[in-house]
Amino acid sequence: MKEQNQQVERTPLGEQCFPFACHPGVACFTRCCRGVDLDLYPFDIIELKKGLGIGSEQIMRNHTRLSRGANPYFPTVKLKLVECGQEFVCPFLGEQGCSVYHHRMGACRTYPLERAVDRRIERGRAADCYFLTKHSYCLGHYEDQQVNVRQWLRSQRLAEHNMMNELWTEVDTILRTNPFKGEGSGGPTQQLVFMACYNIDGFRNFVLEHGVLESLSIAGRQRRCYQRDDKELLKFALEWVKHLLGGPSFLGRR
Ligand code: SF4
Ligand code: SF4
Repeated sequence: MKEQNQQVERTPLGEQCFPFACHPGVACFTRCCRGVDLDLYPFDIIELKKGLGIGSEQIMRNHTRLSRGANPYFPTVKLKLVECGQEFVCPFLGEQGCSVYHHRMGACRTYPLERAVDRRIERGRAADCYFLTKHSYCLGHYEDQQVNVRQWLRSQRLAEHNMMNELWTEVDTILRTNPFKGEGSGGPTQQLVFMACYNIDGFRNFVLEHGVLESLSIAGRQRRCYQRDDKELLKFALEWVKHLLGGPSFLGRR
């Protein structure tokens, strides 16, 4: 989680414990939800669908904006803040705190940690390490509770987010090699890839309309699963994107 124009201390972490707790009793409660600069990953949209009870297209249209980020060949999806008095705040911030708490984004769960991922896909599996990030306004760092990385990840239920984000990292790594070539930014392939990653409802319709599953070696039971399970369909979508862009993929033609 980042905030614009803020000085942040970062300390690499191993097994050691660090002091941190976040709860409604801290004087800075919800301070980090104001003026936040937050990237959204494909699995965040799947979770927000559950938390908000609306479709992926509506989430993308109402709550996100596109920005030019670290990858010059693919847009970065950012949370779109809403104006509230003198400031801009997360659209999901309610009077009692986070209104999508159980489905909040991976970055909100991860703070005060920051995850770094080794992108070398020849390793087979992404390797990660963690930093402790300390914003001057965050008083959670002065609470008595001591935790280590493993305990924090478990308490915030981050295993699923991290597993899904590793799949996204593999795709993002390919997207950084300009796989669209002559089509350039915003061309039909990029639009298709963007839909597969960020608009799961649109991708489901696309798959059904174009007989994508039938053209691949996908078992009937798995195909039915994709029709009702967004997370499973997103796993397929990310694999399908690698297949489409000529990257390493286990999908094979019939
Ligand atoms: S999703 Fe919730 S925790 Fe995350 S910035 Fe928004 S209000 Fe805060
Ligand atoms: S303790 Fe830190 S993470 Fe928790 S509400 Fe305060 S600023 Fe946000």
